[in-house]
Amino acid sequence: MENKNKKKNTITIILLVLVLAALCLGIAAMVWTMTGHPLPAVGSLSSGSDPDSGASSVFSASSGTAVSPDLTEAVSENTSDVSAVSVSTPVVSDTPTPTPEPTPDPEKYNTGDVWALVLVNKEHPLPDGYIPQVTEVENNQSTDIRCADSLAQMLADCRAAGYNPLAISGYRTHETQELYFNNTVQMYVNQGMDEASAEAEAATSVAVPGTSEHELGLSVDIGTTANTDINSSQDNDPTQLWLQDNCWKYGYILRYPPEKSDITGIIYESWHYRYVGTTAAKVIHDENLCLEEYLQKYVEPFTSLDEINQAALASLEASGQAG
Ligand SMILES: [Zn+2]
Repeated sequence: MENKNKKKNTITIILLVLVLAALCLGIAAMVWTMTGHPLPAVGSLSSGSDPDSGASSVFSASSGTAVSPDLTEAVSENTSDVSAVSVSTPVVSDTPTPTPEPTPDPEKYNTGDVWALVLVNKEHPLPDGYIPQVTEVENNQSTDIRCADSLAQMLADCRAAGYNPLAISGYRTHETQELYFNNTVQMYVNQGMDEASAEAEAATSVAVPGTSEHELGLSVDIGTTANTDINSSQDNDPTQLWLQDNCWKYGYILRYPPEKSDITGIIYESWHYRYVGTTAAKVIHDENLCLEEYLQKYVEPFTSLDEINQAALASLEASGQAG
């Protein structure tokens, strides 16, 4: 009886030792492979990387670790716990190189002028709640207080050069813009157009209320003391030619050039100037762009149109302009 028990105990101990030995072997193999050492080939593993051999060897190109399928099987038969780990050979992934944040070229985009880069057109109405604080420049015409000095300087320099500019129409409230638009529609209706055609025609020369740069407070129509008509009669006036050549120095652009009508959606307006800041104005002048093209090329890779609107609204509040 005692002998039988002793024999049984001995067999149990031997079995335990065998299992422990197998476990140790498995763990040792795992540690060996994890530390980047290839396991010695067992059986007929000729070339793990030979694409034509069709060998099903576990080969990780990134870790450079080849594991023989025979050995993997052998290990998994002995110790099922370890096999799960050794089959999924750890892949040492390369540290991802962080993509550097793109930064705007300060010669092309002055982020400090973002408030002056708001795009307002048919597709982009004024930002909600945008009511700038304005100040009169001349002739009962007002403009955003932040570009009023630039406008005054431009007009003064133009006069000093021998010309006779006059601000004809600056900031307009939404109501004033509505009045302008409706009057223009009425003019076409009186000429015999139906209402829809009259509105479409009016929209080519007077912005639909809510989509006018005049409501933004950054635009001004400039005529001359001799000619206050805002129409094509301004096109070849020497005063306009001086302004068109020099406005960029003051941060202004001729907003609707003749060759950009298909992009701006507005006919040539030889009298309509828009403040965009000196950096943007210079680029637009030098590269013969319109505002839409400038934004797309130099600003939108960094700041979306929505972000510009948000920044402009924030800037209104920061400068105590919100009203
Ligand atoms: Zn205008």
